[in-house]
Amino acid sequence: MPNNSTLSDELIKIVGKESFTDSELDILCYSSDMAALPQEIFSLYGFRKPDYIITPSSTEQIVSIMELANKRNVPVTIRGGASTGYGGSVPVNGGIVLDLTGMKQIQELDEEKRTITVQSGITWKELIDLLAKKGFQPGIYPSSAYTATVGGLISTGGSAGLGAPTYGSIEKQILDLEVVLPSGKIINTASEGIPNTNLEANNHSIFVGAEGIFGIVTKATLRIYPKSDDFEAVAVAFNDFEDGWKAMDELLKEEVIPHTLHLMDRQFLDNLRTVEEKTPKEEAMILVALEASSKAKLSKLKDNFLKVCAKFGGKDLGGEVAHDEWESRFKVELLFKKLGPALIPLEVLAPVEAGLTIIRKWNKIAQENTMNMSIFTILGADGQVLLMPMALTDERNKGHFVKTVALMMNTLKDVANHGGQVYSIGVHNFPYAETKLGKEQMKEMLKIKEIVDPKKLLNHYKVVRGAMPPWMFKLSMSMMANLPSWLDVLFLGVAGVMPLNDFAWEDSTID
Ligand SMILES: Cc1cc2nc3c(=O)[nH]c(=O)nc-3n(C[C@H](O)[C@H](O)[C@H](O)COP(=O)(O)OP(=O)(O)OC[C@H]3O[C@@H](n4cnc5c(N)ncnc54)[C@H](O)[C@@H]3O)c2cc1C
Repeated sequence: MPNNSTLSDELIKIVGKESFTDSELDILCYSSDMAALPQEIFSLYGFRKPDYIITPSSTEQIVSIMELANKRNVPVTIRGGASTGYGGSVPVNGGIVLDLTGMKQIQELDEEKRTITVQSGITWKELIDLLAKKGFQPGIYPSSAYTATVGGLISTGGSAGLGAPTYGSIEKQILDLEVVLPSGKIINTASEGIPNTNLEANNHSIFVGAEGIFGIVTKATLRIYPKSDDFEAVAVAFNDFEDGWKAMDELLKEEVIPHTLHLMDRQFLDNLRTVEEKTPKEEAMILVALEASSKAKLSKLKDNFLKVCAKFGGKDLGGEVAHDEWESRFKVELLFKKLGPALIPLEVLAPVEAGLTIIRKWNKIAQENTMNMSIFTILGADGQVLLMPMALTDERNKGHFVKTVALMMNTLKDVANHGGQVYSIGVHNFPYAETKLGKEQMKEMLKIKEIVDPKKLLNHYKVVRGAMPPWMFKLSMSMMANLPSWLDVLFLGVAGVMPLNDFAWEDSTID
């Protein structure tokens, strides 16, 4: 990157001094996402920390940044709330981080048409609160709503979350996206396609789940829904997690569809109780929100829900518990992160009928290795469930950290055999990307990527390209899951001094 000082001057000219930083502390903070990334792993990947962090406030500024990046061949990484843990919002080869959390404006709220147009860096919590004041709600939002941005959910696929069983995935909510392509060209997906590809207007879906490899989503026009007063949270305890699972399966079969359904295991509730005393002491709990168009319909829905749960031994924990749990719905997982303080999450999307087999495997591994792993599941759209095992560890205890990561990642190798797929890919899940995208779609995405980003500037080495061959990563995880932890640390240390930092392996990802 020649002539760095001029580049920083030019960036400051675009966004102003207050929206630019290259301080050591900021660079450190922007070198990982919600999952810790110890130096050895950083070195192993050959990651280069960001050089500059920019917080733009308008599409025009982003266009100017991309034009500058093209002129100077500088890599650019898009960052929303960084609430994913797979390296998607972390730069792999330095350059500029675009922190989109400065893009929070509401552009238009059309109450009649029931649509809202927002800049993509607004968090879901901000959007929910704003809409609630006007009597509306979004169709779907993630339980990470305090940090996750609208652009982040669109870019990671958004097929599970609060509201998803009723209103569907994020893709179903999108009416238009404004996207800045890597060249700096702005397109509006409702009326324009992607130049030089066969993707014509109304192709929002190419950007949904693309994790920023094709462009920066700067604005989104989304459907909104009237907020119903006939809405109630209900919490039900089960003697066994599997009974809770069976109840969830039966609810779908009997078409008793909640607005939201979370299923938590005992370890999750135990962890939570250490930071939220009121958390019930149960083997498993389902928390649902039920929504209907009238009081009578809500009452019937609740009766049906409780009847199904009772078949599997479920007992209603009462209004007060349900109210407390619903009120803390956005905080629960991140509240007990501090017990780690590192939290290693996995996110796997699976059909309800397949999910339990995957969870049994995780539980067996946790038991055999005395891990603090808890299970949180979120019912998604179309009978899919987001499975989120979360393991607590501490990156300062390298042996424990590395072993925990390896044990968790190693379980992904056969997740597809059980009908599951990784939810986000980023950098770390690249070796398992085929479980989500399939070979053909990956090939297609690579072709589009080459057309829209020939200089490999935007979110490169992510999703369809990786920093190391999948077989090498899978072999390392498998070895490290089975070796003693001191050998893992030695292995990582040695590998870290021979980084794969030239990213020489690049075009052979897919044959
Ligand atoms: C406790 C917890 C609960 C969660 N619950 C849910 C849930 O209910 N449902 C769910 O789907 N997920 C959930 N997640 C996963 C994650 O929070 C979501 O995927 C979230 O929407 C990501 O948003 P973000 O702004 O944090 O994105 P980031 O993590 O910042 O970015 C994710 C990827 O998208 C890219 N990106 C971000 N913004 C843009 C943009 N504007 N344009 C183009 N690319 C962009 C980034 O470069 C990166 O590759 C949860 C995670 C945690 C930790």
